[in-house]
Amino acid sequence: MPPEGRVGPEERVLDELLRADIARAPALRIERIDALRADPRWAAPPWQALLAVERCAASQGASPELLATLETRAGDSADPHLQVALLKCRQWAADHAGNPSDNYRYARQAWGLIDRLRLPTLAFRVARDYADEATYAGAVDDGLTAIGRALEIARLAGDAPREADALTTLAMIQGELGQHADALRNSDRALQLDPEISRSDDKLLARSALQIGAGQYDAARATLLRALELAEREGDAETRLAVRINLADVYYRTRRVQQTLDLTAELVVEADRMGIEYLKAYAWIGRGFALAAAGQMQAGTEAFDRGRVWFERGGQVGEVARALRDWAAMMARAGRWEQAYQASERAAELRERTQREAREKNASFLAAVLESSRKDLDIERLRHQSQTAELQLEAERLHRRTTIAVAAAVLLSTASLLFVHLRTRRVNHQLRDANAALDYESTHDPLTGAYNRRHFERFFAQRLARGGGRVLLVLLDIDHFKAINDRHGHACGDRALRETSRRLADCVRSDDCIVRWGGEEFLLFIDDPDDAEAERGFVLRLLDAVGARPIELDTARRQVTASIGFASIELVPDFDLDAALADIDSMLYRAKTGGRHRAVGRLHGGDEPVVLLPTPPTPVAGAVPA
Ligand code: GH3
Ligand code: MG
Ligand code: MG
Repeated sequence: MPPEGRVGPEERVLDELLRADIARAPALRIERIDALRADPRWAAPPWQALLAVERCAASQGASPELLATLETRAGDSADPHLQVALLKCRQWAADHAGNPSDNYRYARQAWGLIDRLRLPTLAFRVARDYADEATYAGAVDDGLTAIGRALEIARLAGDAPREADALTTLAMIQGELGQHADALRNSDRALQLDPEISRSDDKLLARSALQIGAGQYDAARATLLRALELAEREGDAETRLAVRINLADVYYRTRRVQQTLDLTAELVVEADRMGIEYLKAYAWIGRGFALAAAGQMQAGTEAFDRGRVWFERGGQVGEVARALRDWAAMMARAGRWEQAYQASERAAELRERTQREAREKNASFLAAVLESSRKDLDIERLRHQSQTAELQLEAERLHRRTTIAVAAAVLLSTASLLFVHLRTRRVNHQLRDANAALDYESTHDPLTGAYNRRHFERFFAQRLARGGGRVLLVLLDIDHFKAINDRHGHACGDRALRETSRRLADCVRSDDCIVRWGGEEFLLFIDDPDDAEAERGFVLRLLDAVGARPIELDTARRQVTASIGFASIELVPDFDLDAALADIDSMLYRAKTGGRHRAVGRLHGGDEPVVLLPTPPTPVAGAVPA
């Protein structure tokens, strides 16, 4: 390993390989990362950890298979890199399941291991992400500490893009704290260090938010126009819309009433057409401001409420509070004191509530960490932080009592709050991803991550509707699975199921479909197999994938085999799926009664079922036989 803090030659090679792919489509990146994961050169735990983290980042969440692999590997080894990789992948899975508190918890646990990491590139990621999550959870002090560490790591490694990345996060935190001038200065430095930033529409959008916050409206406008150009060139419709919403905000703040009116009228129509809910809500809020600024108070209030209600329903209280505070200022300017006061009071109430909730979460979380990991963590530091969190809670309770009294002062606040706030895209991605996760849950088996029957029925109907062709249907049932449960326990049975599912997934292409058909039964749908030879090879590969290597269980390694029934079938318009499955099931039964660990089925062109036998497994020392 290289001296402390330095990036060694191997790490540099791997980092450059990964970095070269950053701009590629996620699917391709994932494919290339998987190729590296399989490359013996990168088989050592730290590289595997780095690649796993990279893969989770590329796929915006961990696949169940990857999580299962990491759980096994991190469980078997004390390597801190693998432990961190597991935590990071869990973190992203939580993020994508729309579970911010788990997201924060895992990011924090990974942060607790940072001193044991020998790879600066991994340590950087841990610190940078934790800075983000801590700030997001309201623990801004921790956010600052972590981003300081990330900066230090990047500087020591002489890594300009990472330094720029850390400065961008620092700028975001400072923006949160209202330190707009510092925020902008750091954003400028980031831009100097990494010119790529000026080629990213998202990063420019974030920068424009800082400029608006600092009251630099001309600069913000220029940044937004550049972002717009990029978003248009890349065909990034979502960012394009977000940019234009921010542009409307700049028009509004520079009192260009007619331009604000015209643009927001277009935006609500476009947001509606695109059907992206959070942008719709922002567009309506912007429309409300535009109408109110033009003196159309009634219509303005209605438009504003449309947007506000969406955020409130989604529990995004912080966003509602921001919007209400601006709305109060607008009403005050228009001399509508009554409405201004109501909006401001409601905003103060909501802000107080979010802050209290964040602190409470933080306090109870810290208490839990303190309880569970006295050994490995710096107890004094945690105890101190825990107390700080309690104190903050108390301070906020006090603050609540004075809030009403200062509500009027809030009206005078000209602090810029944006329609499209820096963090908003993240927050709303979370919401959107929560919907995606819902969709995932309704189509996947939670244990193995394979598809469920319900999905298969829809999938098959759609495939049939697309027209004819040949498909291979394979029904695979684990042999003597009950004995695994009986002997090693249900949890090991579950693990064997996950591993089997993972091994099957390794055998198919991405447009094939693996379904958890029943307890320990999987159905595989293979579209367009080449010929009988390819089918035979594929079925044998499945038998080998399951049976050739023992499966690692918690307490043992165990040989697991499976039996298969299959049929190569021609899809015709009135194809009877149930009849085909019954036929395949009877062939599976023949495979079972014929001695198990074999396949019975019909290959392309042959009417009579054939029996396929796998390569006999090589006995492995210490493995429990099937
Ligand atoms: P055969 O070779 O004839 O297929 O024998 P088998 O023991 O595999 O078949 P059997 O159908 O008798 O037993 C299947 C077992 O699978 C029974 C059930 O308890 C277990 N099982 C079903 N779903 C799950 C699950 O989600 N997790 C675990 N651990 N076990 C499961
Ligand atoms: Mg079975
Ligand atoms: Mg069964």
